[in-house]
Amino acid sequence: MLIEVVTAPETVIAIAQRIHQVLQQPFNLNGQEIFTNTSSGIALNHSQYRHPQDILRDADTAMYQAKAAGKGRYAIFNQAMHQHAVQRLQRENDLRRAIDRQELILYYQPIICLQTGQLQGFEALIRWNHPEDGLVMPGEFIAIAEETGLIVPMGNWILREACEQIVKLQQHFPELPHLQISVNISSRQLNDQCLMETLDQILADTQIDPRNLKLEITESLLMDNLALATEVLVEFRRRDIQISLDDFGTGYSSLSYLHRFPINTLKIDRSFIMSMEPDNENSAIVRTILTLAHTLGLNVIAEGVETESQLTQLRLLGCELGQGYYFSPPIAPAKLINFLKTQIPDWLELPAFDPEKSSPTHGSNP
Ligand code: C2E
Ligand code: MG
Ligand code: MG
Repeated sequence: MLIEVVTAPETVIAIAQRIHQVLQQPFNLNGQEIFTNTSSGIALNHSQYRHPQDILRDADTAMYQAKAAGKGRYAIFNQAMHQHAVQRLQRENDLRRAIDRQELILYYQPIICLQTGQLQGFEALIRWNHPEDGLVMPGEFIAIAEETGLIVPMGNWILREACEQIVKLQQHFPELPHLQISVNISSRQLNDQCLMETLDQILADTQIDPRNLKLEITESLLMDNLALATEVLVEFRRRDIQISLDDFGTGYSSLSYLHRFPINTLKIDRSFIMSMEPDNENSAIVRTILTLAHTLGLNVIAEGVETESQLTQLRLLGCELGQGYYFSPPIAPAKLINFLKTQIPDWLELPAFDPEKSSPTHGSNP
């Protein structure tokens, strides 16, 4: 809409709100009541505009902001939005080239058996070695990769690279044949028609024992794609691949569904572990998740273990596995062999643990 006589932005906002109200009314389509929603982007004219398409472009940018902020809103364009859009486009273009230019790199974070202190495996975590910006963390580019579909070729590369790495480590350390590698799988990958074909090719090429491969799927991904996800998970399990439910507790799993999924492991989200104190609410949540998991025959990984106190509580509660800075940050691939060979890590000698003596209530309970 072109609105010609505008004395103040409020005029346009009032119009956007009126449009929103009118279109909120249900309308009839072949006897069906249909509800719709509108998001409006507003660009205010100023003297710097030279071409009409520039105003349209800015209104469009603002509309996407409105959508991103939650549907059914309006947003007024500002220069920061333009900067943001330009930066994002730049990132997107850079990311397209990142795979070919071999700028992507997998780091590996140890996962530890909490009762014995032994290394159970690693989680592969992607980083982007950007030529100008240095090491970029996944939080800054996974979403873009998802939106653009780049996550599919990128995810395939990640899977292959992670499998190759673990096979290499096992060849180097024949005494560690059970080392597992966990790889994060995103929504777009799960929906990719070629996923199974690619996966089979990677299993065949790398000769990884599928029991040593674990795929991490987030709870929300699973709940958003119930039917498809179940189908795909069954295919994973048919190949003896393990499945972890990542970030557990942050989405809204229907507990009634949980037992129907062929998963092996729950990963309790870092937010619960972070603020876990003996006898506080989070500790009760962690205990409940553990009971639930064990009833369903699943084992549990605590994410983000940072302190000895957290470790003690987790051991006391019977949590099998842990991952976090207390043990080790994610490790660069070039340092892996050395890490396993020379650094007898601290976590191999976990603090002495006697469940009789330690108690979550400061020793006051038996
Ligand atoms: P995630 O799968 O839940 O991975 C755990 C994140 O927690 C990692 O962040 C890890 O570095 C961080 N972390 C581990 N221990 C601690 C700790 O003790 N304290 C704190 N504060 N953080 C800890 P990162 O590497 O930044 O990854 C963030 C997310 O990005 C991952 O969450 C995952 O959802 C996604 N991601 C990472 N790599 C990949 C990948 O290869 N593919 C896909 N699809 N997603 C990935
Ligand atoms: Mg993960
Ligand atoms: Mg997680």
